[in-house]
Amino acid sequence: MPSDPHRKPVWPRVLGQRRVKLQLLSVLESRRLPHAYLFHGPEGVGKDAMAIELARVLHCERGGEAACGVCDSCVQLDSLQHPGVRFITALPVGKDEDKDDGPLDRLTAEELRNVQNELQAKGKDPYRRIAIPRATGIKINSIREIRREAPMSVAGNARRVFILSHAEMLTSVAAHTLLKTLEEPPPNCMLILTTPNREELLPTIISRCQQVRFDPLTEDQISAALVERDSVEQSQATLLARLSGGSYTRARELLGDDLMQEREQVLEFVRRSVVSHHADVGRIIDDVTEEKGRVRVTRFLHLLLLWFRDALVLARDGAIINIDQQESLKKFLARYPGSDIPAILGEIDRAISLVERNVYIKLVLYNLAGQIKANIR
Ligand SMILES: [Zn+2]
Repeated sequence: MPSDPHRKPVWPRVLGQRRVKLQLLSVLESRRLPHAYLFHGPEGVGKDAMAIELARVLHCERGGEAACGVCDSCVQLDSLQHPGVRFITALPVGKDEDKDDGPLDRLTAEELRNVQNELQAKGKDPYRRIAIPRATGIKINSIREIRREAPMSVAGNARRVFILSHAEMLTSVAAHTLLKTLEEPPPNCMLILTTPNREELLPTIISRCQQVRFDPLTEDQISAALVERDSVEQSQATLLARLSGGSYTRARELLGDDLMQEREQVLEFVRRSVVSHHADVGRIIDDVTEEKGRVRVTRFLHLLLLWFRDALVLARDGAIINIDQQESLKKFLARYPGSDIPAILGEIDRAISLVERNVYIKLVLYNLAGQIKANIR
């Protein structure tokens, strides 16, 4: 990695993102922090990690440009249990939830436990994808809580930080309430919105935030992290890094012994989608959705995406990722030379975002199989 000899690497918990780090450091030095940031860029490249790191720096009792990691504040933030920092994410809506209720007030004991466990895990591992059952959106009561808490002062007069992870998940009413907060920003507070889909936010929200763009991570950064943080063997780390599309989160989700088998399943899904006996497609969809749910299906769709991306690359004589599947890719191209692969890639992308939004998974896969067939010729 290129390095500036005058500056030691800062914020080592956050992988790469050197440009972003330097940008934030210079803002910290100038003490001209904006009221609201929007961290945008691909999934799994460290937007939440950076938001949490910035909160750690702002609240660290020792001050300075890096968090110490050992003071009370730093320790509290390790489990996202800090009175001055709220991590806001999609949550289930409680029974009879009223406008004066806090976002957690009406949840069942089990739901509350799920939320707390997920937040703790996220604090320990900011690259983790939060998965709370029945959490379909960032709800209005989470935004109302910002307005309630914002005026209260924090120990040491530090800035109160609200991190809104996956801000594209804001419900429409919540987004409009947030807009009011952004229009009249409460003093001594900072909102950090993170999103992989900036275009899904209200333009009026985007324009009121300072934008920070995050880049995909390099294969080297990802494979090094897999080796160091996840004890993955170097050779496997290299393959996963290649398959990850620049996302550390995705690379880790690809971890697992059944990766080879899943790649076979991808091939089978393509075959059956094209030949299309309805029952055959159904069987493979049952296999894919059988266990582990959403995360597993998302991973399958990413592998499918890579397979078609390889088909496109191979058609242009480029270097492919699924090297061991080169033969089947070549056969496919020879047999269906008129296929609209970019259209298929778009459909898979769409399927991924639908699955992430809790739309009925099997239906998404059936529709996708239909779209693949329609674009292959
Ligand atoms: Zn500290």
